[in-house]
Amino acid sequence: MRTILVLVSVLALTAPVMAALTPAVPAASTTPAPAVNPFSTKWNTPFGLPPFEEIKTEHFIPAFEELMRWHNEEIAAIVKKEEAPTFDNTIAALDDSGEALVRVTNVFGLLAGAETSEEVQAIEAKVEPMLAGHADDIYLDAALFARVKAVYESRAKLQLDPEQATLLEKTMRRFVRGGANLAQAQKERFRAINAELSSLIVRFGNNLLKETNAFKLVVDARTDLVGLPDDQVAAAAEAATKAGLAGKWVFTLKAPSIWPFLQSSANRDLRKKILAAYSSRCDSGGETDNKLVFAKLAALRVEKAQLLGYPTWGHFVLAENMAKTPDGAYALLEQLWKPSLARARREATELQAMIDAEKGGFALEPADWRTYSEKVKKATYELDEESIKPYFALDNVLSGAFTLAGKLYGITFTELTVVPRYNPEVKAFEVKEKDGRHLGVLYLDFHPRPGKRGGAWCSNLRDQWIRGGRFVTPVVYNVFNFSRPAGDAPALLTPDEAETLFHEFGHALHSLFSSCRFRGSGAIAQDFVELPSQIMENWVFEPELLKLYARHSKSGEVIPEALVTKIRKAGTFNQGFAKTEVLAASFLDMDWHTLTTTQLQDTTAFEKASMAKWGLISEILPRYRTTYFAHAADEYSAGYYSYTWSEVLDSDAFQAFKEKGDIFDPATAAAFRQLLAKGGSEDPALLYRRFRGRDPKVDALLDKRGLR
Ligand SMILES: [Zn+2]
Repeated sequence: MRTILVLVSVLALTAPVMAALTPAVPAASTTPAPAVNPFSTKWNTPFGLPPFEEIKTEHFIPAFEELMRWHNEEIAAIVKKEEAPTFDNTIAALDDSGEALVRVTNVFGLLAGAETSEEVQAIEAKVEPMLAGHADDIYLDAALFARVKAVYESRAKLQLDPEQATLLEKTMRRFVRGGANLAQAQKERFRAINAELSSLIVRFGNNLLKETNAFKLVVDARTDLVGLPDDQVAAAAEAATKAGLAGKWVFTLKAPSIWPFLQSSANRDLRKKILAAYSSRCDSGGETDNKLVFAKLAALRVEKAQLLGYPTWGHFVLAENMAKTPDGAYALLEQLWKPSLARARREATELQAMIDAEKGGFALEPADWRTYSEKVKKATYELDEESIKPYFALDNVLSGAFTLAGKLYGITFTELTVVPRYNPEVKAFEVKEKDGRHLGVLYLDFHPRPGKRGGAWCSNLRDQWIRGGRFVTPVVYNVFNFSRPAGDAPALLTPDEAETLFHEFGHALHSLFSSCRFRGSGAIAQDFVELPSQIMENWVFEPELLKLYARHSKSGEVIPEALVTKIRKAGTFNQGFAKTEVLAASFLDMDWHTLTTTQLQDTTAFEKASMAKWGLISEILPRYRTTYFAHAADEYSAGYYSYTWSEVLDSDAFQAFKEKGDIFDPATAAAFRQLLAKGGSEDPALLYRRFRGRDPKVDALLDKRGLR
């Protein structure tokens, strides 16, 4: 899972950020808990971090209500200004407004994703439509829009710098896309659509969490554990004990449980059982079924897009992205689809040959792919994941990410032990420049919990911007779902998990390096935002970096050359499968979001037809099916192609280091940091060209994936 799930509300897309009343220097954290709502006070905590221990669920609704009122007053003050509209008194003033509301939105967004409960979900169901309505109140305010429009129309005379010009352009577009130009009757319908969309998104996510948590594969007999490595067996035994089933073994649909199980279990029936449960989530009828929820989302999006003059939701979303149109996205996906599928077919033949050599007597199915690709890998490269994992203890991989950031950018990470945190197992780090200057705070949350959604993501508790001439430093968090250590053993990561850690860490660096004047500059095109994250994955298995972090968890021995060579040689192994499942999901997402009809679709039939049209082979499932495709359901809708789009950029950008013959080349790193520092304050294509000296080429990606 290499996802950044942006769990922020409609409002955060409006004013994509938040800054707390932060002291530049950490203050003592000994203030007694105030009786008042923590969201209406200044936070006297180190670095102005949210006082998590004082924040109770009952604080949220009153805080949202009160802070929406505050925000409305700020907006009213802008509208009432007697002076003619200017960039400062209208566009910058809007950017400044709503700070306190974004503060509560960000804290709530964090908890709704990583520390949810039935109480939090009930608040979410109430608050999301409220926030959607609040955003509508702003964008559909005719007097406010008149001021924005007046500034926009005079832009040629304003002599704005690039960041101001971008903010003005984005603000104008946000109003138009927020319905400002609609006739009164359309505005009513527009509001109703937004309210319903926000409720459906919440419902989709909560259904998915419920069904993911509900399933347990309970194994009674040790003979059914054949093939599984010891740490997986130990983790399953621990999970069973926790579930009141001591003496048995429990496997779940969470990433650290299901994927290793599918990779190693020799019991085909159980493999099929757990994959069937995973791939039929929210697809079996009943209260938590997502088929109709998704169909309604898709239909309402068509209606919303068409109200705004776009033929489809995809056209509406992609107008803000580098791809510009669904055709642009499809063109790239199709370019990669044929070679990926051809490669996947060859891989399937190899796996079938292995099954036949074992006299398995069955045809390859999705539940067999991971098991047999692991066997083929062992046979071909004498490489198995179990021999790699001891070198990828979580602490070592994390130190690898920190080391890389240090080598590229000179920054340091110091663990903070006495700061507020939302769960005791969450870690916090102060990030500093080479000269010791404070850059920001990074929270890291590693393991699954029942209240945590699946996948991995990065978001901000406080964005960087410059408020009243003062530089506000960012507070960023990464959430993961890595294997929990069993007993006293260290948590060992799979190669995929190591890449995920570097990926989310890359998003965090993007936020930490931001050096923008406006909060609105933090909104970044979806298909550009995966460049800073995915580029980091390129370093994970580079021998020069491996030597610095991949040490054996028991002996402390540095990973042997021979093993590094094997890992490098196996680098393009199984890439047909990996790319095919991602591309299939990207097509599915884009097919849903290029519907032109508002008629409710039969979700099952639609998905079947989409996959048949592209010719997905039956041995591979799309990375996500519709009923559990959280990206397609939420704010990432029509955006799953972004991972592939950004992969062109990240492969090409990493190539710039390779061309210098030094993967830590300081000049290239400095140029890349320039790109990161700009956030969304300039056109991404321009930022990229400035870094690379030319437009991106697809060649590096094709080579990396072994697709030509
Ligand atoms: Zn990402």
